[in-house]
Amino acid sequence: MGKKRPQASSKRRKDFGPPKKKGPCPICNTGIDYKDTATVRKYVSDRGKIRSRRVSGLCGACQREVARAVKNARELALIPYIAPGGKPTGRGGGRNR
Ligand SMILES: [Zn+2]
Repeated sequence: MGKKRPQASSKRRKDFGPPKKKGPCPICNTGIDYKDTATVRKYVSDRGKIRSRRVSGLCGACQREVARAVKNARELALIPYIAPGGKPTGRGGGRNR
């Protein structure tokens, strides 16, 4: 309990966590195509969710492109909306009434 916690005064403090951003993300070089499911899937989690930028390591612009590509691919049934052969866990969709 001796630790002092800095209050959230400023929105983003760069006190710790050295900026390790070096070079562009992989998509910057190659770009992403929603038809390229192999690539698109890489940025989708097991549950069919789009990986966050922190996980995927993409830059902002590419993250958007990827998200778009994923949604596009989903719409065309190139990739599943949810995990294949898996039940969505913890998702109480049914209305208990
Ligand atoms: Zn990028």
